[in-house]
Amino acid sequence: MSTHHTPEHLHSHLEDTLTVGKWFQNIWDAIRTTYKGMMITFRYVWGVKPVTIEYPEVREVLPENSRSRLFNDVDNCISCMQCADACPVDCIYITAVRRDKEAPAIKTDDGTPLKLDLKQYTIDTALCCYCGLCTEACPTECLTHTTDFEYSQYTLSQMKYNYLAPDIRAWKHRIVK
Ligand code: SF4
Ligand code: SF4
Repeated sequence: MSTHHTPEHLHSHLEDTLTVGKWFQNIWDAIRTTYKGMMITFRYVWGVKPVTIEYPEVREVLPENSRSRLFNDVDNCISCMQCADACPVDCIYITAVRRDKEAPAIKTDDGTPLKLDLKQYTIDTALCCYCGLCTEACPTECLTHTTDFEYSQYTLSQMKYNYLAPDIRAWKHRIVK
């Protein structure tokens, strides 16, 4: 005696056979879900404030306390090294020498006498984690985070800033508020 088994896939296919009722149900589901999706789209097109901006034509102004590009106003830097000591990733490089005793006395804007001559002040901002500890340690507040966020580069070496270089000194008038 032979037994006859309905193959599993054929069995499920028979169960899914399209009826007239299911056909109308499918059409209704398609209309209903399309309408629902398009209502969300139209709400954003016409009704809801946009969540994106047309950058770079439109630029948002970052909050004053943003921790973005670092700037050291080297004329007010007393070479105390406190920023470098505070830096958790050691990306601040400072070289300074004792000022000549005969050299005319100079002071920072807040009246602190400069006892050392700053010879190198470099930050490798490719290593920087923007923690802000260096700016908090700075006694003359010459080292600050600016709100300038547009400084991507093609090479890592371009992210290393020598703050004594004339072109970087000139940032003072552009990015420091
Ligand atoms: S903000 Fe950057 S440079 Fe300053 S302490 Fe943090 S890691 Fe170092
Ligand atoms: S803490 Fe400020 S003053 Fe001292 S070396 Fe750093 S930037 Fe200059």
